Amino acid sequence: MVRKILHIDLDAFFCAVEELHDPSLKGKPFAVGGKVDQRGVVASCSYAARQFGVRSAMPMSRALRLCPDLIVISSRHGDYSAVSKQVMALLDISPFIERISIDEAFVEVTDLPDPVESIARTLQNKINTALNLPVSIGAATNKLVAKIANDWGKQQKSGAEPPNAITVIPPGEEAAFLAPLPVQSLWGIGPKTAAKLGALGINTIGALAQTPKETLEMLFGRFGPDLRERALGIDDRPVGSERGVKSVSNEITFAQDLTDEKLILSHLRRLSDQVGRRLRKAALAGATVQIKLRWADFTTITRQKTLPSPTNLDKEIFETAAELFRENWPRGKPVRLIGVGVSNLSPPIRQLSLWDDDHQREGNLLSAIDALRERYGREIIQRGHRMNEDDREDELADGE
Ligand SMILES: [Mg+2]
Repeated sequence: MVRKILHIDLDAFFCAVEELHDPSLKGKPFAVGGKVDQRGVVASCSYAARQFGVRSAMPMSRALRLCPDLIVISSRHGDYSAVSKQVMALLDISPFIERISIDEAFVEVTDLPDPVESIARTLQNKINTALNLPVSIGAATNKLVAKIANDWGKQQKSGAEPPNAITVIPPGEEAAFLAPLPVQSLWGIGPKTAAKLGALGINTIGALAQTPKETLEMLFGRFGPDLRERALGIDDRPVGSERGVKSVSNEITFAQDLTDEKLILSHLRRLSDQVGRRLRKAALAGATVQIKLRWADFTTITRQKTLPSPTNLDKEIFETAAELFRENWPRGKPVRLIGVGVSNLSPPIRQLSLWDDDHQREGNLLSAIDALRERYGREIIQRGHRMNEDDREDELADGE
């Protein structure tokens, strides 16, 4: 399945919030940040200031040399996180939201039927009108390309006004879009790596993508192949982190209600495998297995069972889920949706009994399989809902 992922980035966020407080700042060169006499740096600068070469993270003294009329405003941090929360609340068009910083987030909208461009446009409109804030959105089939597309789109529109850009990279055009860009546009390529590549004549992402695997392995060890994948615009990472998660669940709605036990159980097995894999990837195990069943008339039941010790093994999750299913399914009753979840999460327990030795071995085997799937293309995972996104500390700067 082709994913639809948005990267949301508010334009000069701190400055935009300051303009809400003092509309007379609009269109003027100003910067939010620390005072010159305290060796302050620019946390955010207006697009009018950028015309003079002012950039965030620059010493305020330098910014003032570049733009002597620069208006300097000391930050009001409390305000920014309150406004940031209002923005993040508007991203609620999908359960898959990953906040990256005070003014940036990913939202996966694969399940929404509209074209990604119109989803982005509607969301941008909502933020523009409800909060009076400019925001740029990049859209692509993965996080890597959505983020780079957004950065690129913002640059294309750099003027005295906030870009409020929308940039869409259609499926299949990822590598072609990235090819002419400098290697530094890729995540994980800092100045050092860029210099190393530059010495070999590899300056663009396209050149990096064409570099033989062996060369990259020699230069970057086991990260070499990853780098090449990124250069080709390949990125399987899911939106959202599993940190702070209280339960992991997957569910499926059938195109046609199912009545065949074997068929339903085969779906249950697949869902259990997916849940197990996600748990292992997050280095978690859970003691409570839950199933969800929705009948043809949309009534929904959930049933759960708590195991003697936490598990993240596909087989145990499936066996428990299948048992719950058999106990609660009136034979032949049409099933519209089925889901499996594991909660009561903790790090996996290792015990030194003979039985647990096997248990451990199976866990190791599954981790190895997970790694292979990760590496060589895995089937698309249909994800369930996630709870309790972690609330991160606000950063000191708002980027671009
Ligand atoms: Mg920003």
